[in-house]
Amino acid sequence: MRFEDQRKLMIERHLIPRGINNTAVLYAFSKVPRELFIDEKWKEHAYQDHPLQIECKQTISQPFIIAYMMQLADLQAEDIVLEIGTGSGYQTALLSELCKEVYTVERYSELSISARKVLRSLNYDNIFYKVGDGTKGWENSIPPKSEFDKIIVCAGSPTIPEPLISQLKIGGKLVIPVGSAISQRMIVLTRQEKENIIEELAFCTFVPLVGQEAWKE
Ligand code: SAH
Repeated sequence: MRFEDQRKLMIERHLIPRGINNTAVLYAFSKVPRELFIDEKWKEHAYQDHPLQIECKQTISQPFIIAYMMQLADLQAEDIVLEIGTGSGYQTALLSELCKEVYTVERYSELSISARKVLRSLNYDNIFYKVGDGTKGWENSIPPKSEFDKIIVCAGSPTIPEPLISQLKIGGKLVIPVGSAISQRMIVLTRQEKENIIEELAFCTFVPLVGQEAWKE
């Protein structure tokens, strides 16, 4: 079956029946070719709903969980978004389809470089890349940016890194899996002037967020 048809089927079988109803999110999934973000040997699995191995012992996230996080973030066309954990760049492409600008941080330069290559070949031109510790957010990076409408963390953390909260606009949302190394809960934090709103949602399992404000190496 053509990849385009497999993409449609993935949306019909794995996203819509599991509660993904945000039309912008579904549109982005219909556009981004997941097969280009994975190794040749996994291509026939590109549209199955599970994570796949990428370089540096990391994974490209399961499509449903990416869609779930994007829906929770309530993304808007004008949003400036920070993504922690570029990985393969697949979710970066989806965010780039929906938002004004995407700032993405990855700790492995190898992954950042290969993600950049694919994303540039697909003509995504509203993405800014950084190699470093994303638990500190976009601090002291180029171009300078101190506040984001949305922050999405694609790796599991023991706690919510403080710098990420302080880099959110008031009213902005941070979506992050928080818990132990083997199981986390999806958290949505909405920044408020005074007390932030924290919602604890579904259980999930992500690769660890490794950095100063999360798991230590
Ligand atoms: N959305 C990506 C997910 C990749 S897995 C995809 O679908 O391909 C999570 C990524 O987070 C891994 O690439 C890992 O290297 C990265 N990561 C872990 N800790 C990090 C940190 N402190 N800063 C930046 N990236 C980090």
